Amino acid sequence: MQPVECGMCGNRVLVEKYSPTHISTQWLDDATTACAEFRRLSAAGTPIDRLRSCGALDASIDTAVVEGRITESHRTVPVSGSTHEVRAYT
Ligand SMILES: [Zn+2]
Repeated sequence: MQPVECGMCGNRVLVEKYSPTHISTQWLDDATTACAEFRRLSAAGTPIDRLRSCGALDASIDTAVVEGRITESHRTVPVSGSTHEVRAYT
């Protein structure tokens, strides 16, 4: 996994790119305290499980991918609760 920093709030997450369309994001800190956007939305009453991601973070991840800072992983995706595996591209 590779670290990406949110361009807006500076929150750091780990990103793993499995394919051009499958990017997995792992938050290192509690989203509601680490991310300004999550903090703002949850303060406004949005249920936290309805929040998928911070828009600025998504944009930062996209930029990192476009700039080639995130390289594609050839590992299989761990899917909890099932034995399903996504095939790695070679
Ligand atoms: Zn953010």
